[in-house]
Order: sequence, then structure tokens, then C-alpha cells
Amino acid sequence: MRMTVLASGSKGNSAVISSSRTRVLVDAGLSCRELMKRMVLAGEDPAALDAILITHEHQDHVAGLGVLARKLGVPVYLTEPTHRAWVRMLTPRTTMSYAQWLDHVQREKEARAHAASAVSADAEPGLCDSMSAAVESSSSSPDSAEPEEQELEAAQKPSAKADPTYLPAVEYFRSGSQFSIGDIEITPFTIPHDAADPCGFVFASEGVRMAVATDLGYMPPNVKTALKRIDVLLLESNHDLEMLKDGPYPWSVKQRVLSRVGHLSNLATAEFLERDYDGAAAYIVLGHLSESNNAPELARLSAEQALMNHPTLLGNRILLAEQTAPLAPISL
Ligand SMILES: [Zn+2]
Ligand SMILES: [Zn+2]
Repeated sequence: MRMTVLASGSKGNSAVISSSRTRVLVDAGLSCRELMKRMVLAGEDPAALDAILITHEHQDHVAGLGVLARKLGVPVYLTEPTHRAWVRMLTPRTTMSYAQWLDHVQREKEARAHAASAVSADAEPGLCDSMSAAVESSSSSPDSAEPEEQELEAAQKPSAKADPTYLPAVEYFRSGSQFSIGDIEITPFTIPHDAADPCGFVFASEGVRMAVATDLGYMPPNVKTALKRIDVLLLESNHDLEMLKDGPYPWSVKQRVLSRVGHLSNLATAEFLERDYDGAAAYIVLGHLSESNNAPELARLSAEQALMNHPTLLGNRILLAEQTAPLAPISL
């Protein structure tokens, strides 16, 4: 199995998890163009992706989702509440009743059936060029999202035209219920975070287990349990408490980050590593580091000190995921 972290941090998150037969993207928090670029840089072929999995609907995890999924023609796996929250975010309507939501889902199904019977969409990778600039600004003005792509798609898929929430296929999962994509077994687990239905993932294939656990306010028992016997662990180490306290964020944002539905501090991560972690991982990748309220050396030092108190854990290698460039693929 292989994990390639394409980006990690509050400006965008994405990682490729692959077995010899299956390749999935976890989160799509950069523009389509940037995601494609980083995949190619890291030696991952975008055209070989089998699916996109989403942890939660925050912008730093979904920024490029719609465009990338349509471009590659791959299914998107998420929970129903996350899907609904994402659609709501992109729909210029402030409220959506459950009846309206069901109606939306029905219309999407019909559009997909229609698109499937029409000429299949152009899934050429490497060509999100014209729309990525528009996507980057789409969070603030969903109305104007991806105008060029809309034109392009309108010509190809009449039924799905001009809808930024259109996805070529949607598969729902529930936290706690295992499912498979190809030969990768996936177990989503609930994480405490201020989103509709946020989750982390454990991936198992070929006798190797990898996990993604970022964006969590604290380490509840279910997460500690999920993170047993993991060989490659992408774990949040978001902020240094002192730096956050003295840092530039407004008080309300500091409160949010520190809350039980915010982000893990270096200290909380160290406490987990020292007290609850079973030491099984060959690699621990520290991720979602805050650019304003953390320093990579502080996060690394804090985790290393935690492991040092466990002489048996010194075989664990600590890596730091980056915001601006992909990490070299980690293969086991
Ligand atoms: Zn995030
Ligand atoms: Zn988040």
C-alpha cells in the first residue's frame, strides 16, 4: 500500500491511498488543477483514481471536489449529511428543507441516468485549466462558480448543466460501517469536529493498514480504538497552545480551534502518542499544521518527546506533511 499526502493544512487537504489495484483520493481541498499537478509531481496518475472520499464539508477539504469528480468521472463517497451540507454550501439558497433535499437527490439521480445514456463525458485528466481560476474563487460566490466548465458541460451533458453540485456518482457510507473500494477495505470513524458528520478513515489492503485522522477537537475513545494496529498514520498536530494564545486569530476563532470540536494541539497529539498509541506505525505523518499558530519543528519535537518516553516506539519515523508541496509517497 502507498500513501501520498498531496497537501495538508488549513488551506487545503488531500492524500492518495493506493493498493496495487485500487487508488482513492481522500479529500479534494485544492483546485482541480492544483490537485492534478501535485498528483503528477508525486508520481500518482490522476486518470487511475477509482474514487474520491470526503471526510467533511469544510472548504479546505472540498475546494476542488465538484470539478475534479466531473473531470475524472469518478464516484464520490461521503456521508449523506456531509453531501447535504456541501450541496447547501454551493446552493445560493439559505435554507433547504428535508423535502427539498430529497427532491434535489432525485433530480440528481435523473440527471445522472440522462448523462450516462448521453455521450460519456470527457474524462481527460490534466485539463482543468480553464476552470480552476473560477473554482478558486467559488467559495465566496457559488453563483459564478466554474462558468467555463458549465459551458463545456452544457454542451456534453444537457441534464447536468450549470449545476456546481452535480457529481458523476455518489455513494453514501456511515461512520462505523465498513465498505470496500476495489481491494481496499475502508472503515470510517466519527471524529469530534464542527462539521455536519465528520469522519476519519482506516484503509486496509494487502495486510497493511493506513489511517487518516485530522480535524478533531480531542481524542475520544472511538478514535483511539480505530487507530490501533496502524502502519502509516496521518495524524493532526494543528497548533502550539502558546502560539495560538499569543497569535493573530480573533478570540472567537481561538475558542473554536481550542474547543472539543476544533483541532488537536501538539500537546494533545503528544498525550495521545504517550498514553494511548500502541506504537505499531512505521510512519507517523503529522498533518494539518497551522501556519499561523505552529512551527513544524515544534510539532516534530513534541511528538518525538512523546515517543521518547516509550523506548519501544523509537522505530517510528515521524514525517511532517506540508501545505505547499506533496510529500514523497510512503510505501509499505
Ligand atoms: Zn481541515
Ligand atoms: Zn475541518
